[in-house]
Amino acid sequence: ALIATRLQLERQALTDDLTQLPNRRHYIEQCRLELARAKRYQHPVSILYFDIDHFKTVNDTYGHQAGDLVLQSIAAAVLKVLRAGDLPGRLGGEEFAVLLPETSLHEALKAGERLRQAVAETRTTLPGGQEIQVTISIGVAMLGETRETLDQFLMRADKALYAAKNSGRNQIATPPGEEPPASSSPS
Ligand code: GH3
Ligand code: MG
Ligand code: MG
Repeated sequence: ALIATRLQLERQALTDDLTQLPNRRHYIEQCRLELARAKRYQHPVSILYFDIDHFKTVNDTYGHQAGDLVLQSIAAAVLKVLRAGDLPGRLGGEEFAVLLPETSLHEALKAGERLRQAVAETRTTLPGGQEIQVTISIGVAMLGETRETLDQFLMRADKALYAAKNSGRNQIATPPGEEPPASSSPS
C-alpha cells in the first residue's frame, strides 16, 4: 500500500489535475529528452502549440466551472487524434502543446489541421444541458538547425500561434517568414 501511494504521489506531481495531461514542468522535461534524441540522430521533430480562442468569453458567459469542463473535453479530443509517440501537455491556463517526434513540418501541418477540426467539432455538455463549442489557434514549428535550443524552438512556435490568432483564429500557422511547405505533394 505504501509503494502504491508513493507511485500515486509521483504520478500526481507530473500530471495536471484537471486534464490529466502532463503538467508544464513534466512536459518541458519530456520535450528536452525528445529534442536531445532528435538532434543526436538528426531526426525531425515538430510541435503544435495551441490556445483556445476567446476562452475568457466562455468563462464570462457560462462560468469558470463550465470553462473547466471545456478544458477537459478538449484534452480528451486531443488524446483521440494523437498518433503513437506524440506527446501532449498542458502548458498552463488554456494553452497546450503536442510534440510530434519523427515529424516534418509538412506532416505536422496535417496533424495540426486534424487537431483543429477535432476540437471545433467537440461539444461540451454542461450540467444544465447547454452545449458549448470552442475553437483553437495553433502555431506549428519544426526544430531548426542542431544548435536551436528548446526555448528558441518554443518561442518560434509561440510566434506562429500569435500569427494564427492575428489571422483570425481557428487556424494553424507557421512562424513568421517560414513559408508552409508546398502543398502539391499528395496528402
Ligand atoms: P484569445 O482568443 O486571444 O486567446 O482570447 P482568450 O479570451 O482565450 O485569451 P485570454 O488570455 O484573454 O483569456 C484566457 C482565459 O483563460 C482567462 C483565464 O481566466 C482563463 N483560464 C485560464 N486557466 C483556466 C482554468 O484552469 N479554468 C478556467 N475555467 N479558465 C481558465
Ligand atoms: Mg492564452
Ligand atoms: Mg485563448
